[in-house]
This record gives sequence, C-alpha cells and structure tokens, in this order.
Amino acid sequence: ETFVNKAQTRLFNSSSSRMTIMPAWVIDRYGSNDVLRFTKNAGFPIINYPNEVIVKVHAAGLNPIDVSMRGGYGAASMAMKRDPLKLMQSGSEFPLILGRDVSGVIMECGLDVPPVYFKEGDEVWAAIPPWKQGSLAEFVVLSANEVSKKPKCLSHVEAAAIPYVAATAWSALVNTGGLKMDNCGKKRILILGGTGGVGTFSIQMLKAWGAHVTVTCSQNAERLMRGLGADHVVNYTAGPVEVPLSALEKFDLVLDNVGGSTESWALDLLKPWCGAKYITLVTPFLQNTDRLGLADGMLQTGVTLATKALKHLSKGVHYRWGMFAPNGPALDDISEIVDAGKINAVVEEVFSFSQVPQAMLKVENGHARGKTVVKVT
Ligand code: NDP
Repeated sequence: ETFVNKAQTRLFNSSSSRMTIMPAWVIDRYGSNDVLRFTKNAGFPIINYPNEVIVKVHAAGLNPIDVSMRGGYGAASMAMKRDPLKLMQSGSEFPLILGRDVSGVIMECGLDVPPVYFKEGDEVWAAIPPWKQGSLAEFVVLSANEVSKKPKCLSHVEAAAIPYVAATAWSALVNTGGLKMDNCGKKRILILGGTGGVGTFSIQMLKAWGAHVTVTCSQNAERLMRGLGADHVVNYTAGPVEVPLSALEKFDLVLDNVGGSTESWALDLLKPWCGAKYITLVTPFLQNTDRLGLADGMLQTGVTLATKALKHLSKGVHYRWGMFAPNGPALDDISEIVDAGKINAVVEEVFSFSQVPQAMLKVENGHARGKTVVKVT
C-alpha cells in the first residue's frame, strides 16, 4: 500500500495527472441507445497501481457485449468485480464508459512497468475487461498484463477489430479446447456462426494452425467465409442446418457462437470417445447472476454446467463453456501471426467518434460481417 501511495505521489507530478478531464461517450443509467451521452468532462483515468499504463485511444472496437452492457447485462457480476467489499453505493459505476477493444499509444507507465515491456509512445492493443472503464474515450487505464504491442502491419482501426474476439477465441479454443499451433494439423473443427467477430477471427487462426474448418453462415456470406480460408461452408438459412452437418465426417471440436437450440444437436456431430469437445460462448452465467444475485447465480450456473457436462460425458463427448478472459501474452502470440500475414482484420464498418450511437446501433442490428470500429483520434 505504501508503495502504491508513493507511486501515486510521484505520478502527481506527471503530465497525465495534471489533466483531469477528457472527452468520452458515457452512460448514466442502463437502457436503449438514447442513454449514450457525449461529454468533454469525463474523469481522466488515474494510475492506481504501479503495474498500470494509460493508453491514448486511437480506435475502439465494438462487440455485442457493449450493447448488452448498455442495457444492464452483467451489472451484478461487474459490481462485484469493481467493488468486492460493497463499499460503494449502487450506481457507483456511472458514468460508465463502454468499448472493449482498444488500439492506441502508451501515454504513461506505472512505476512497476519495466521499460523493456512498455514505454511511452509504444503502439499497443488490448481487450478491456468488462468491469473496467472502456475505450469509447480519449484515454483508458489498463494493467500492463492486459496490453500487448500492436501488430506493425495493421492500422489502429484494423487493430481495434481484433483483441476482444481474439482473447475470447483464445480462451475457448486454446485454454478450454486444448488447441495449439502444433496439434491442429489433423483436426476437424466446426464453427457455428462464422461471420461475426469471433467467427471471422477463429477461422483464420485455425487455418493458420493447419486445421480443417467447416463453418455455418447465411447464404450471402459464403464468399467471405471462403476468402478467410474456410474449407467447407454450410448455409444455415436453407433449412435445419443439422441435417447437412450430420452428413459430414464427425468433428474434433465445435465452437458455438450461436447458442439457443444448437446445443440439442451439435454434440452429436462430435467424434465420440476421443476427447472431442463442444464449446459454447453463449452461456447463462451473467444472466443468472443478474437474476439471482451473485451467490445463488453462481450456484445455479455451477449446477447447470455440471449437469450438462456429466450428461454428455456419458456419451463420450465433452461439454464446455467458453469465456472471454483478458490476456496480453496471448495477444503477443496473435500479433506475430498477424504480422506473418496469416490473420487479417475483418472491418465491416468504421464510424467517427461523433457517430458512436450509430456504431452501437449497427452492432445492435446484428448480421455482422466482421467488426464495427470507431475511429477515436
Ligand atoms: P457477432 O454479432 O459479431 O456475430 C454473430 C454472427 O452470427 C453474425 O454474423 C450473424 O450473422 C451470425 N448468425 C446469427 N444466427 C446464426 C445462425 N443461426 N447460424 C450461423 N450464424 C448465425 O458476435 P461475436 O462473434 O462477437 O460473438 C458471437 C457470440 O458469442 C455472441 O452471442 C456473443 O454474445 C458471444 N460471446 C461470448 C463471450 C463470452 O465470454 N462467453 C465473449 C464474446 C462473445 P447473420 O445473422 O447474418 O447470419
């Protein structure tokens, strides 16, 4: 604590702490798009821990979670992460800044951040955990271990299209799915929902690692999917998609970006008794904690997950949930794959900083073909 205080005292003399306000898009309550408010007077981020860095935001990527959080999704769990001792009054998260992806430039480093990792002026990218203030602002403060050097071959707008979906895909495919560069060669992977942020990134990463990739998408997206490297494309709008899928050779892993009724048939597409996994990103975890409170919500979640996992284990396949996790070191690895030319940013539409409400609406309307990005500076 003394060290942190010392760090703060030293920082008091630095440039950023003399700035106290910045432009940002904030929300002051949960609701529909009209709760978004532009202000020139948002609080300037402060380095509270010596391992933190302040990043000047050049571009901010949007994700479906921004729309959900605008409406209050996950509020109970996020409040617990921000304030575990419940010292603050309810509503203390406001004014809340959305935006989970950032590409920008390091403006200031805490005292514990070794200059070999980051120094002022470095171009960086990061996926911002949902319990922290986001990137729809001129500056954002992050832990150094959430940040990574941005790929050199990408512009800031392109770079802001990748971190959150990449960290999610990494958590699901690598940490939960056990995939890595040197074990994908003979694997057959099915991605349910290939056209959104997670899908367009995952296809490219899996192809870079040599997997055979099948995707489902709308009819009008086949060219996009093939262009990103998909080996086999199945149109889900032509009738029950499980019918053509079940005629194919079985899979080693299914990544589900769609959810809903997919769970009732997707596990039957896996090779039984050889470690094959179904991993869904559409989980009831945050809804449960919002609805039931933290303790009961987590209990309910645990029971649901365990019941499903056990049920499928008896059929020789694994049922798992995939979750976003902030991961600077994973972004370092991804940065290398991007700079090797094996992963491109798939940017569908770019909005200016004054058009944040339009950008949010674009994400809210769905049917993504890659990512929506806001150019901040
Ligand atoms: P996007 O909104 O970017 O993409 C969703 C895509 O799915 C769209 O392109 C949509 O296009 C397509 N789609 C919709 N319905 C179907 C269908 N039945 N079959 C195939 N494709 C379909 O979302 P993301 O890629 O960012 O995220 C994917 C999912 O994962 C979301 O539900 C998101 O909430 C969740 N997620 C969960 C995380 C976690 O921590 N658990 C983290 C990140 C994401 P079209 O409608 O035109 O077909």
